[in-house]
Amino acid sequence: MSSHLLPSYARVDLAFERGEGVWLVATDGERYLDFASGVAVSALGHSHPHVVAAITEQVAKVIHVSNLYRIPEGERLAERLCDASFADTVFFCNSGAEAMEGVLKMVRKYQSANGHPERYRILTFEGSFHGRTLATLAAAKNKKHLDGFGPAMDGFDQVPLGDIEAVKRAITPETAGIVIELVQGEGGVRAAPPQFFRELRQVCDERGLLLAFDEVQTGIGRLGELFGYQKFGVEPDIMALAKGLGGGFPVGAVLATEAAAKGMTPGTHGSTFGGNPLAMAAGNAVLDMVIKPEFLDHVRQITLLFRQRLAEIKDRHPSVIEEVRGEGLLIGLKCKVPNGELIDALRAEKLLSVAAGDNVARLVPPLIVSDAEVAEAMARLDRACAAIERGKTLPKPGAAG
Ligand SMILES: *Cc1c(COP(=O)(O)O)cnc(C)c1O
Repeated sequence: MSSHLLPSYARVDLAFERGEGVWLVATDGERYLDFASGVAVSALGHSHPHVVAAITEQVAKVIHVSNLYRIPEGERLAERLCDASFADTVFFCNSGAEAMEGVLKMVRKYQSANGHPERYRILTFEGSFHGRTLATLAAAKNKKHLDGFGPAMDGFDQVPLGDIEAVKRAITPETAGIVIELVQGEGGVRAAPPQFFRELRQVCDERGLLLAFDEVQTGIGRLGELFGYQKFGVEPDIMALAKGLGGGFPVGAVLATEAAAKGMTPGTHGSTFGGNPLAMAAGNAVLDMVIKPEFLDHVRQITLLFRQRLAEIKDRHPSVIEEVRGEGLLIGLKCKVPNGELIDALRAEKLLSVAAGDNVARLVPPLIVSDAEVAEAMARLDRACAAIERGKTLPKPGAAG
């Protein structure tokens, strides 16, 4: 498998030719049940007719014009996102990391615009992930991700997830805000209790700090509400979206209240591609579907069924699965065996999943997944676990003694 692509990914030797709903068809014709969704991206599955039609129609009209001009499709998407959320204003970009860069800049600028330029430091949490740019890496402080890339950018202080006393102790006169994922996705599908988010809101209000949620993975229906914070009952001042927002087309967004966005005046931030007409057509098409109450009802219902079946399988295979974690259709299987072993066994059963930190295998199916497809996936998970158990008790054929 030699290739001229930069070898910065550990790729599996498998390529897909097309997709239909929750299924991906490999170049050898094999069909895979896609519970990876391109890392929690393909919210409406593959080749969704409404998304295909919207994108195709827009491609034929105009793809890109730049932010030198008004973009009506973007004004419409921003209005709809604001109507459906706490926010008053939206900045569009092209990825999760870029959305989080926008969040970090906005938190700093808010304090500066309010006469506190000395307040630039941001509190983040252990185990978090906010992207692969230098600022988002500095925010998450993951040593493995920072290694070899020079001194990390200053301005981030980290505390343990869920420890409100540690948060209070870490706040100084230089602190500008707090940034947190509602459920840590890459970090291992770990969530603080809802109470913690209420406590963060209170601390931010008392100390004049901004509260920013990284909903790049949890937003757009993944947790059974349009935005994850709606489930936790706490509103942020700023929120980042990306993964599910464009249904596979790269779209990121920073949503903010008018007060939090103070200071982001013309010339303070930008992106050449951000919010172009094609991206906005994709975003509007995804929102058309996900915003429907019956769509979110479906996500919640399927989550219940899924969790029930997972609990049964965990009980049947305690030597493979230690714990089932997560919210909505962001599910983590904490493994007893190395998580890669379960992911490989699932792929052998033609079920796709994604690794996460803390030895977790993530199941993040498209939100349109049906009862029958969940049942099929669970049958495959059951067989994969059984195969691992057999491999552990029986000597592997051909294994040298
Ligand atoms: C994936 C992810 C990001 C980074 O998004 P990219 O599009 O890969 O830049 C940031 N934050 C969270 C919570 C994510 O899950």
